[in-house]
Amino acid sequence: PELFGAARRNARGWDVTDQRDLDAIEAARAPFRTTCFEASPLIAVTVTGATPYKAHNPADPADLVGTVTVCAAEDVEAALAAAKPWTADVALRAQVLNRAADLYEQHFGQFFAILAREAGKSQLDAVGELREAVDFLRYYALQAQGLTAPARGVFACISPWNFPLAIFTGQIAGALAAGNGVLAKPAEQTPLVAYLAAQLLHEAGVPRDVLQLLPGDGATVGAALTSDAQVNGVAFTGSTETALVIRRAMANHLAPGAPLIAETGGLNAMIVDSTALPEQAVRDVLASSFQSAGQRCSALRCLYVQEDIAEEFRAMLFGAMDELRLGDPWALSTDVGPVIDPDAREQISAYVETARTQGRVLHELAAPDAGFFVPPVVVSVSGIKALEREVFGPVLHLATFKAADLDHVIADVNATGYGLTFGLHTRIDSRVQHVVERITAGNTYVNRNQIGAIVGSQPFGGEGLSGTGPKAGGPHYLTRFTQQRAQRATD
Ligand code: GLU
Repeated sequence: PELFGAARRNARGWDVTDQRDLDAIEAARAPFRTTCFEASPLIAVTVTGATPYKAHNPADPADLVGTVTVCAAEDVEAALAAAKPWTADVALRAQVLNRAADLYEQHFGQFFAILAREAGKSQLDAVGELREAVDFLRYYALQAQGLTAPARGVFACISPWNFPLAIFTGQIAGALAAGNGVLAKPAEQTPLVAYLAAQLLHEAGVPRDVLQLLPGDGATVGAALTSDAQVNGVAFTGSTETALVIRRAMANHLAPGAPLIAETGGLNAMIVDSTALPEQAVRDVLASSFQSAGQRCSALRCLYVQEDIAEEFRAMLFGAMDELRLGDPWALSTDVGPVIDPDAREQISAYVETARTQGRVLHELAAPDAGFFVPPVVVSVSGIKALEREVFGPVLHLATFKAADLDHVIADVNATGYGLTFGLHTRIDSRVQHVVERITAGNTYVNRNQIGAIVGSQPFGGEGLSGTGPKAGGPHYLTRFTQQRAQRATD
């Protein structure tokens, strides 16, 4: 099907290899290096608010990034009572979303500053994130113009901290483009970037009772939104466990047909066979597993290298890994920033420590002293079956396989029950076909990395434990936000 079509292109974004773009980025974000930002509920009625707290930079806890006021329970109730679908006609909705995309691009300095200081995003990640957010706005604005079905009503959009701008915006833009109202709950770790984004959406012309922002935690905000009969559907990205909690709450309180659009976790694998181009495979493994400090649900968790090349490949991989620069994500030279918070660091580090006591740590970088850093690490594993859960950080598991066992590897990968991304490096065409036909993953990438799906050309989403579909940034996403009706033409 036609995706973006001739009418629209993806945003140009910023080229981090071009000095002119880098200079522009430096100049635009410099004024926000020490700004103390603000976030508070944006709801259509007067806000009570809970006591404000201070948000700090995960790379440098001494850096005060903002002051956050979350919703009190009464605020959530008031927002629910005020929520309205967007009854403006589709042409106007599309115009407003396109205007919001332009405003996002104009505020790039501020966004890049908050993404680095609040979410620990490297500059490369921040660029990708803003670009994706802008693409979602324009893509869904375009797609909406082909919709004939009416909106469902009001959606709760619950978004994650790892894409606090792109996924936050994508869910909202999808719901709004289809004509729904939105109650948006940003992740607790990243309300500041969400607040700026919501303000720009309002400035672009989304009415304040149509889009309301409800910062706060799962217990106060999330639970209330997913168990209120006024909510007609939920878009959620986060853990598989939370998706199940939401589904239960919806089953008990919402109309039986209310959709849950969930994008959840993954246990993603990559196979590198002996015909792969090693330099390219190494580069793609590093990006897939360590970019964003491994905090992507698409990230590579278990790499299978064909036994015949394993030793040479390992040496190349570890050598290239040593070149990665860990540190303050504000610095343009940083490849890997911090993990999101002390809890994340503790959990991932505990996992690595267990692997270390078992003698399975093969290679590891050193972490900076301050900040919530987990150094990228490679851990040996017999195969994906040995992984009990998704470790959401820069931990790559490395296994080997014999050519004759390829189908067993595929079966083991499928047997995890997850099905988000999968990578294959080979130069044998028939093998590409063989593997692609058998792997049950939402997004399979051949001879490239397996992160960073592009809106409009790589619709993103998983199957099984990885999500419900429809895929974000794809031609079917908006239909789930609508009420399909059959109509008979009168004669
Ligand atoms: N869409 C992102 C990617 O392709 C991943 C989204 C996520 O981590 O939730 O890398």
